[in-house]
Amino acid sequence: MSEKKLPGAVRLRVAPSPTGDPHVGTAYMSMFDLAFARQRGGRFILRIEDTDRARLQADSEDQIYDTLRWLGLTWDEGPDVGGPCAPYRQSERLETYRPYVERLLAGGHAYHCWCSPERLTAMREEQQRRKQPTGYDRLCVGKTREERAALPGFSEHPVVRMRIPDDVQTSFVDLIAGRIDAPMPDDQVILKTDGFPTYHLAVVVDDHEMGITHVVRGQEWISSTPKHLLLYRWLGLTPPAFAHMPLLRDEKKAKISKRKSPWARLTWFREQGYLPEALVNFLALQGYPPILEADGSEREVFTFDEFAERFDWAKVNPAGSMFNLDKLDWLNGVWMRELDLGDFASRLLPFLAAEGILPPNPSLGELARLKLVAELIQTRIAKLTEAAPLVAPFFMGDDMIVIADDARGQLDAQSPAVLDAAIKALGDIDDHGRGVLASESDWNASTIEAALRAAVVDGLGVKARVAFGPLRTGVSGQRISPPLFESMEILGKTSTLIRLAALRSTL
Ligand code: GLU
Repeated sequence: MSEKKLPGAVRLRVAPSPTGDPHVGTAYMSMFDLAFARQRGGRFILRIEDTDRARLQADSEDQIYDTLRWLGLTWDEGPDVGGPCAPYRQSERLETYRPYVERLLAGGHAYHCWCSPERLTAMREEQQRRKQPTGYDRLCVGKTREERAALPGFSEHPVVRMRIPDDVQTSFVDLIAGRIDAPMPDDQVILKTDGFPTYHLAVVVDDHEMGITHVVRGQEWISSTPKHLLLYRWLGLTPPAFAHMPLLRDEKKAKISKRKSPWARLTWFREQGYLPEALVNFLALQGYPPILEADGSEREVFTFDEFAERFDWAKVNPAGSMFNLDKLDWLNGVWMRELDLGDFASRLLPFLAAEGILPPNPSLGELARLKLVAELIQTRIAKLTEAAPLVAPFFMGDDMIVIADDARGQLDAQSPAVLDAAIKALGDIDDHGRGVLASESDWNASTIEAALRAAVVDGLGVKARVAFGPLRTGVSGQRISPPLFESMEILGKTSTLIRLAALRSTL
C-alpha cells in the first residue's frame, strides 16, 4: 500500500480494456487526460485493464498502442514504456490487490458470497418479475461457510462482495457537472472466483497505487463512483478528483457503440483516410467549445497544443454534442491543406501502396512525381482514401489506361476531330526531346493550355468544357481527374501523345 512520491504535479490515466478494436472513447478520454497533464506539468499514464478474461482479445492491446500513438497521444508511463508503478497491466498486479481485500474483509466492509450463478440468475429474474430493484439479496451476509453450505444454491468457490451500508452517500462533486446524485449501489463483487479483482476494486487500488490525481472517464461510469468513494473511505485513502466526460453520441443522440456505428472503432478513422490532426481537433470539439480569440471571434480549427494550453474543466460541456462526420470531413480538408507537400505525399503513400499504385518504398523518381501529383490534388480531396483513383493514372504504363464507362460517356461525334487537333498541337510543343518534365522545356501547363485553346477551342470552335472532356478521358481514363494541363505537364509529352492516340484509335 504504497505512498511513494511519484513524478508529475498531476497524474492522469486512461484505462482501456483490451476487448477488441479500440473504442473512439479511449482517444477522447486520453486527449482530455493529456491536455490537463501537459498544461500542469503532470504525467499521463496508460493502464491496461484486462481483468475480464472472458472478453480479452489478443491484438487489442497493440491496436490501443498503435492508434493512440498515431494520434500523437503518447503516454509517460505504461505497459510498453514502463515507469515507477510498473506493471501497468492489471493481470500482472494480482498480488497487489490481495492485501486490500484482506483489509476490507477484516474491517467488516466486505464478505464472502457462496451463491451459485444459478441462484443469482433465479434471484434476479424473480426481482424483475416483481418489478423490484435488482441487486444481491445478501443471503451470505454474516454466515460462515458451514452455515451457508447448509442452504441451497451453494457454490464451492466464493466471491468477495462489498457490504454497502444502507445510509451510503451517493452524491459526489464532479469537475465537469458539479454535484451529481448517483443511483444507490448494491453489494458489488470485488473479487471473483478466479482470484481476479473486478473493475471496481482494481480501479481504486490502481488509481491509488499509481498516484492518480484526476480520474477522467465517460458518464457511463457515474453509477460506479459512489462505490469507489466507499472503497477509498474504508481503506483510509484520499480519493482523486473525478471528471465524467459527456458521452459521444451518434446523429440520433444515442451513445455510440461499436455494434451500431463503424466509426466507434478508432481504427476506422485511419482506414478512412482521416488525419490524426483532424480527428484530435474533431474530438476536442465534441466536448469543448471553439477557441475564443482576443477579438471575440471563435476558431474551430486548433492543434492539440493550443487545446492543452487553454484547457479548463469548467469549459467542458456536460451535455456533449452529436457526432457529425460532415464536420470531420471539413476539418480533414482544412488539415490536409495545412500539410507541406512532402508531408502530404508521405501520408498518401500507405493508401497508394495498399492499392498497388506505388511500392511501399518508392524510388526517388516516383516520389518526385508523387509530390507533383499531390500538389494537384491537395485541395481536391476530403480524405486520403480519395487520392488513389486520381493518382493512379500517373503511375500506370501508357498501355494500361482503361477508359471508365462514365469517361467514355463524355465522347461524342466531335471527339475524333478534337483529339486529332490536340495531338497535332501538342506534338508541336518543343520539349527538347525530354519526353518528361524538364524545367527548360516548353512543355508546361501554360504552353499546353495555350496550344490546346488555340487548336481546339479557337481552331475548331468547340466550347472549352466540351473540348477538354475527351482529352481528360484519354490521359487519365477517368471522367474526373486533377487539372488537365498540369496533368499533361507531369505525364510528359510522350505519354500524353501515346494516350491520346490510343483513345483516338478506338473511335
Ligand atoms: N476499464 C474501464 C474502461 O474500459 C475504465 C473506466 C475508468 O476509467 O475508470 O472504460
